[in-house]
Amino acid sequence: MHRFGCFFSNTLNITLRQRLRKLKPLLAMSVSTMLAAPKNALKTLGLSTSKHIHYQLSPAQLTGQAVQRGEGVLNDTGALLINTGKFTGRSPKDKFTVKDALTENTVHWNDFNIPFEEKNFFSLKEKMLGYLADKEVWVRDCYACAEEAYRLRLRVINENPWSNLFCYNMFIRPEEKDLESFTPNWHIIQAPGFKADPAVDGTRAENFAVISFTHKTILIGGTGYTGEMKKGIFTMLNYVLPTKAAVLSMHCSANMGDAGDTAVFFGLSGTGKTTLSADPNRKLIGDDEHGWTRDSVFNFEGGCYAKCIDLSEEKEPEIYNAIRPGALVENVTFIEGTNKIDFSSKKITENTRVSYPLTFISNALEPSIGKTPKNIFFLTCDAYGVLPPISKLTAGQAMYQFISGYTAKVAGTEAGVTEPKSTFSACFGAPFLPLHPGQYAEMLGKKMNEHNVNVWMINTGWSGGAYGVGSRMKLSYTRAMITAALEGKLDNVFFEAHPVFGMMMPVECPGVPTEILNPRNTWADKEAYDAMAKNLAGQFIKNFEKYASGANEEILVAAPKG
Ligand code: ATP
Ligand code: MN
Repeated sequence: MHRFGCFFSNTLNITLRQRLRKLKPLLAMSVSTMLAAPKNALKTLGLSTSKHIHYQLSPAQLTGQAVQRGEGVLNDTGALLINTGKFTGRSPKDKFTVKDALTENTVHWNDFNIPFEEKNFFSLKEKMLGYLADKEVWVRDCYACAEEAYRLRLRVINENPWSNLFCYNMFIRPEEKDLESFTPNWHIIQAPGFKADPAVDGTRAENFAVISFTHKTILIGGTGYTGEMKKGIFTMLNYVLPTKAAVLSMHCSANMGDAGDTAVFFGLSGTGKTTLSADPNRKLIGDDEHGWTRDSVFNFEGGCYAKCIDLSEEKEPEIYNAIRPGALVENVTFIEGTNKIDFSSKKITENTRVSYPLTFISNALEPSIGKTPKNIFFLTCDAYGVLPPISKLTAGQAMYQFISGYTAKVAGTEAGVTEPKSTFSACFGAPFLPLHPGQYAEMLGKKMNEHNVNVWMINTGWSGGAYGVGSRMKLSYTRAMITAALEGKLDNVFFEAHPVFGMMMPVECPGVPTEILNPRNTWADKEAYDAMAKNLAGQFIKNFEKYASGANEEILVAAPKG
């Protein structure tokens, strides 16, 4: 193993070295050893660069470099703030899958699984490697999957230090001793500054994320949005684990109670996976991506990627306090004249984010593996204000809701547009699922039956009217409802069926005003509620048409009454 001295003088100039020394006390992290990239590390990939290869740098080193390069600044608590550039979110229309002998008949080709020619993959990769050939690169070896039997070794090549810090935070960090013989299963090549030429490269635009299951490589260019790397690996695992390992991959968060009881929280973006899994009374397993084996639930990742919009210490202390040295905060701005983050600002985007390692959450479970779930929560943010804030689902209803994958967002920011916009995304994660949704649903159905799991639906969205009239459910109430369900406090209360959707609503719940439990009670205009419920039921039924032929009677009877 090469030590600090020789590698350091080779890789960094004097000024940076001095600056890093200055940053050292500030970052409260030591700039200790530096590892040399394994000799053949990049040869297997075909990458040779005339410039420095920064291998496996520490968060303090990466943070220091980002500041030194003028790519980021520190806030008052020492976290690194950067802008991801033109893209502040994923670009699903520019995500492609190489269509070849392996994927042709196994991938479910749709709006999220867009075919890409293998020859274009090869030439795009060559071009990217050519682009990087005269640039410094940041290389990181890391893992996906906390459960060792399913672990995959990843090697990420980044064009800048902060993208590499994201990978340090989000993927699982190997021990130094495991690096010497590290042979990657998968590669990510990520170059935000590289732009494709759609006319010759087969892309839609300058930006792209291309995944090849055969060549085990993800190419990301033209976008600096870090989430593309995370969700690229998630997409890969959603293909590999169910087909090769009989593991159900899930877009969910997970935590565990003192008694070892696991809960998983499925939900589309913004429904509360990250927020609600960070529960001071339970151990965090993970905030976004998990696998369910024969007898465990394990995290795919080593970190969390939390929203920052309107973040407050009072409501979300765990996440708030994770914004410290080593954390990477994306697309936020400062309160004018200070170096304090303005969490309310949507100046750059509403999708402001912070990534941090799981260890930043005080009660994270290590390793992030729990037992078979006892409770499953489907989170939805219903901006129509129709669905109950908590309800219990039958096995048929659970399958119906899982296949539907409903949430409704507040409409765009245009003035006067107040009608919510519904999204139906199968398995609460259609953009990341290479296989037909039925394959995941079937696996979940089997597991739910086998283990006799409670399934709850939680509406973290509107109450007292749709968006514009009502208001979002108070986070403290949602937390209280989940706690009650987990602690068995709803086992002996009365339930009533929702007249349209059929799910069972508790008539009382500790810590929650009784009158909000039935959403109809919260609407001043009951007829307006009934009409809205009917409207939403109609949307469910229409969406389900494409799955109806593959669904059994138990699932079909769980449809809402239109
Ligand atoms: P993504 O998949 O994009 O990471 P997510 O499911 O993890 O999304 P969160 O990051 O948890 O979603 O976002 C939920 C947001 O909604 C947070 O900003 C949270 O503060 C806010 N919120 C407001 N009211 C509630 C509520 N009642 N329950 C949950 N979250 C709420
Ligand atoms: Mn999340």
